[in-house]
Amino acid sequence: MDSEKVIARDNNYVLHTYNRNPIVIEKGHGLHAYGPEGQNYLDFTSGIGVNSLGYCDLEWAEAVSRQAHKLQHTSNLYYTAPCSKLAKALCRRTGMSKVFFANSGAEANEGAIKAARKYSFDHYGEGRSTVITLVNSFHGRTLATLTATGQDGFHQYFGPFNEGFVYAPAGDIDRLTKLVDAHTCAVMLELVQGEGGVVALDPLFVQEVRALCDEKDLCLIVDEVQTGVGRTGTFLACEQYNLRPDIVTLAKGLGGGLPIGAVLVSDKVAAGMGPGSHGSTFGGNPVVCAGANVVMGRLDERFLAGVREHGAQLRAGLEKLPHVTDVSGLGLMLGVQFEDGIQASDVLAACRERGLLVLTAKTRLRLLPPLVVTAHDIERALVILDEVLCGMDPLRP
Ligand SMILES: *Cc1c(COP(=O)(O)O)cnc(C)c1O
Repeated sequence: MDSEKVIARDNNYVLHTYNRNPIVIEKGHGLHAYGPEGQNYLDFTSGIGVNSLGYCDLEWAEAVSRQAHKLQHTSNLYYTAPCSKLAKALCRRTGMSKVFFANSGAEANEGAIKAARKYSFDHYGEGRSTVITLVNSFHGRTLATLTATGQDGFHQYFGPFNEGFVYAPAGDIDRLTKLVDAHTCAVMLELVQGEGGVVALDPLFVQEVRALCDEKDLCLIVDEVQTGVGRTGTFLACEQYNLRPDIVTLAKGLGGGLPIGAVLVSDKVAAGMGPGSHGSTFGGNPVVCAGANVVMGRLDERFLAGVREHGAQLRAGLEKLPHVTDVSGLGLMLGVQFEDGIQASDVLAACRERGLLVLTAKTRLRLLPPLVVTAHDIERALVILDEVLCGMDPLRP
């Protein structure tokens, strides 16, 4: 079916909650996405940080299809090997004690909030349930995670919103400390605010938050839905912040393209989450876990060193481009700020015309290439970006 028909049908029948790019992607291989008429795109979005191994990695696709032929689903009333294998790999890799599997980032964050509140309830009783999150954060689209998201734009139309969330500006430990009272149970943050504009938190601020959480016995929830699973050059971004969280959430890149979320908890938090406390029909699905196990197996130290190396190469190249005033982020999660008068959305559209797919976040261009990106792919993307930016004049938009 040709692109025009696919787009017309989608526009007729799919609820218009997305501003989609006017292109259809039919298949993919590695860094490349292909359209029905043979269009070839170099993809620096990886499905918003999801396709960690690129499109249709052979080992991943074979593991997924082998598992689909063997057992596609049971339920959480029974044990399956792919699920326990993934749980063990995640705990060993992160030093966390136990995992709960969900199906998305928002769902993982819901689980994290529940686990933090349960810990607080068990130790301090009712009424200690408020979660402090950061201004400009993004934690998901369910009602609780929308409320946790520290952006006013998300707190409209769908009310009443949940109680129990308050917001502190990132980097301001005094304001955050002032929000702590007898009702506070947790602090929740992203180490690099992704949707909020690819803003990395100040390491000193993060250490101050950890110390505050220790002092008041608050759970520190780190939302690594976007930063986790190698994206920033270490398995967790926490490692680069020398941070020991009480709860970490993962999702996007973990399944290599299949829907999964994970809530990783420390011993003290795990203790409260007994039978009946939480659940999911699909969570821990064997096909999804088979895919995630391939991702986990691939992300050894050598692989992660490659992510850091390619992240540094991409950052250095971006910094040299015309009209670029700042490059933010960590590893292969980068944001590019342009001079006034150049809109990231215009750069995105011009890149797409030249066969390069990129993202935006707030005023920035955002790059989230698959973790298997090569030096050659990066050079190619930089050439296209250079051509696009050379053709732009901030004074004559
Ligand atoms: C994408 C994202 C989410 C939401 O994940 P979904 O899978 O879309 O529910 C939550 N937190 C962060 C930091 C994210 O980047």
